[in-house]
Amino acid sequence: MHEYSIVQALIDRVQQEAEAHGAATIHRIRVQIGELSGVEIDLLRSAYELFSEKSICEGAELEIVPVPARWSCRGCGAPIRAGEILRCPVCSQPAHLTAGDEILLERIEMEVA
Ligand SMILES: [Zn+2]
Repeated sequence: MHEYSIVQALIDRVQQEAEAHGAATIHRIRVQIGELSGVEIDLLRSAYELFSEKSICEGAELEIVPVPARWSCRGCGAPIRAGEILRCPVCSQPAHLTAGDEILLERIEMEVA
């Protein structure tokens, strides 16, 4: 499942960061999930519950920050709302996605021994 491999990759990253900083305990991790990333947040949470056991993340809180999709004009940079025609009303250039497809480990709160 998609969410399982994402969580596994997240925990691997946290493990690497913990080792790099000599941290023994992780208190909390914060992850940004774009609404167009294809990630089911409920599934991500249950995958995290499962995978964090016996890992560096055991007992650490998973904070999920949903990121709404945002579009803007490729030509002039004007913001374009989702749901509208994805083309700039000013210069007719096609819109491009500027936020909403990310899966980003934003922050790790850890305790350094
Ligand atoms: Zn434009």
